[in-house]
Amino acid sequence: MTAGSVFLAHGSPLSALGGDAHAAALRCFGESNSGLRAILVVSAHWQTTGPLRITAWEHAPLIYDFGGFPEELYRIQYPAPGDPALAARIADDLRAAGHDVKLETSRGLDHGAWVPLLLAWPEARIPVVQLSLPATPPGGLLRVGEALRPLRREGILVVGSGVIVHNLRRIDIRNKEAPAEPWAAAFDEWVARQIESGDTAGLLDYRSRGPHATLAVPTPEHFDPIFLTLGAASPGERFETIFEGFQYGTLSMRSVRTI
Ligand code: ZN
Repeated sequence: MTAGSVFLAHGSPLSALGGDAHAAALRCFGESNSGLRAILVVSAHWQTTGPLRITAWEHAPLIYDFGGFPEELYRIQYPAPGDPALAARIADDLRAAGHDVKLETSRGLDHGAWVPLLLAWPEARIPVVQLSLPATPPGGLLRVGEALRPLRREGILVVGSGVIVHNLRRIDIRNKEAPAEPWAAAFDEWVARQIESGDTAGLLDYRSRGPHATLAVPTPEHFDPIFLTLGAASPGERFETIFEGFQYGTLSMRSVRTI
């Protein structure tokens, strides 16, 4: 089977508790993608400079890389297997495409990786490999995504995990159901239109073309995974929305996948 290329919003760490429409949409996506060979995930929470890094452990330790949240979040387990042989081969493939890569054997999955995986595949049986997010401009991120594209033919799902509108100074943390602020909705809708119309060039220039881009993307790490997802799509391949909506007034939960 050929697997897809997807962007999954991980939202707040509280998203891990599920029970909302975003969680239901990701679970539905997981159920319709249950026969995957493996999942390769790139998260906003593991940004690296220098060589790319790829996890090469047998079992995924979790990182609880957040503070001040309810105790139950720190007890969550996600005992997915890794696949060191696959990780080593993907590293070779990336090197052949001109990327410097190192195997990572100690760092576990961060919450940007395990939250959406837990929601989509709670049984944690599919092997997981995490690739770091290079701190590089969007064009470079697209090229890393392109190097991952052939993996999809082996049944390996490529997952970018981030948040399209992510400004922690502007979230209404006391009200998960707060209506979307107009500037946040405008940027989110603009991004959705570029993705659905296949206008990757427009998206690359989001800083000048996207409405309220400075407010919506004050720092790039949560937006950047979308470029890995787009790069892993074939030319002309279309995307559809898995979920759209906001939490806490400005946190976009939009998630998309290749059709
Ligand atoms: Zn995050």
